[in-house]
Amino acid sequence: MGRVNSKVALITGAAQGLGEASARALHQQGATVVVADVNLKGGQALVAELGDRALFVELDVTSEAAWQTAIAATVDQFGRLDVLVNNAGIVLMGTIEDTSLEDLRRIQSVNVEGPFLGCKHAIPAMAQTGGGSIINMSSVAAFSGTPAFAAYSATKGAVRSLTQTVATHCKQRNNGIRCNSIHPGGMDTPMLESLMTLAEKSPMAAEMLMQTAELSEGIGKPEDVANAVVYFASDESSFVNGSLLTIDNGFMAS
Ligand code: NAD
Repeated sequence: MGRVNSKVALITGAAQGLGEASARALHQQGATVVVADVNLKGGQALVAELGDRALFVELDVTSEAAWQTAIAATVDQFGRLDVLVNNAGIVLMGTIEDTSLEDLRRIQSVNVEGPFLGCKHAIPAMAQTGGGSIINMSSVAAFSGTPAFAAYSATKGAVRSLTQTVATHCKQRNNGIRCNSIHPGGMDTPMLESLMTLAEKSPMAAEMLMQTAELSEGIGKPEDVANAVVYFASDESSFVNGSLLTIDNGFMAS
């Protein structure tokens, strides 16, 4: 018996990294997974590998129309939506002084507007079948000063507040929906690899990365986050709403 048997979960940014690990873990624990990403090749390959109980949908999380189509496709095909993992995100290195407004707006459209639209459109779909669980992927950058990632930190702080707002809203509406966020430190994914590659090419980027304290706690595995996603998706966490879980090897504690 899987921990999320017969639940239907949509995971954004599921073609690689933390989203892929989360989709695999949810599928292994009995869920039907909707792998949503702008990366068609990676997303379709994952769905082909998973076989039964898996569907790929092309979803750019910045597009409200694409969200509506993806959620409608999920409900049409599987009859319900129980779990949404708002995981898709992009990173941008740069201090407050050298990040342009244009760059802030670009990262904000994926990291903030994406989860905002996901929550907005998932809530009515989940409420139709008695509730569900929304899991937002934030970061330890939501809690701490992260000078090398000014715009990124701002977006992750917004995701933290969005989580608490959605949790409280759903509680007031008594619609059976919970919303929690996960705050990883450094995790071994293509996103982190891209930063390492940048640091190899640029001494300034290397120095900025060196000063990013959370990375000094070591690098976690995508499965460390995926296990938490399964917990939040499952009924094991039915009394957990609005919680902010750090997965950072004690970085925030110290
Ligand atoms: P990643 O870059 O390895 O994967 C991100 C995925 O999101 C990719 O498949 C990409 O195609 C997809 N994506 C990007 N823009 C999209 C869009 N507009 N619409 C739909 N999909 C889109 O990243 P990751 O390391 O797996 O990170 C996943 C999440 O976890 C992100 O929100 C990230 O900010 C967060 N996070 C990561 C780390 C880390 O160290 N890796 C730490 C803290 C938080």
